[in-house]
Amino acid sequence: MTVETLPDLSRKEIKDLRVLAQFTSVYCRAHQHPGKGFLAANIPGLEVENYPVCDACRDFLDYAIERRLRCPLDPRPVCKHCHVHCYKEEYRRKVREIMRFSGQYLLKRGRIDLLWHYFF
Ligand SMILES: [Zn+2]
Repeated sequence: MTVETLPDLSRKEIKDLRVLAQFTSVYCRAHQHPGKGFLAANIPGLEVENYPVCDACRDFLDYAIERRLRCPLDPRPVCKHCHVHCYKEEYRRKVREIMRFSGQYLLKRGRIDLLWHYFF
């Protein structure tokens, strides 16, 4: 993915991508996945170096970001209430696991600031 192929991103889209990257990175670190790297995607407003992930989590994150940017619905509903279900089953399970795990993880550590934008 390169800057040239991306449409102008809205603040909402960038925020969603940051949440995805943040939660995936928290999940990856907490599970001590070996071999951290960074997303190859060059997305304006998303500082990939803030979100180290292992190869497997990077595959997932790449996919999740692409799905988000291709979401045809505007305004986008909360994914769990969406009728399109654009995620492949395998990734759908994974995103639920990551969101649940990292949500609880951040909550327990008092990082409510990181959750605020996600839930409200
Ligand atoms: Zn990982």
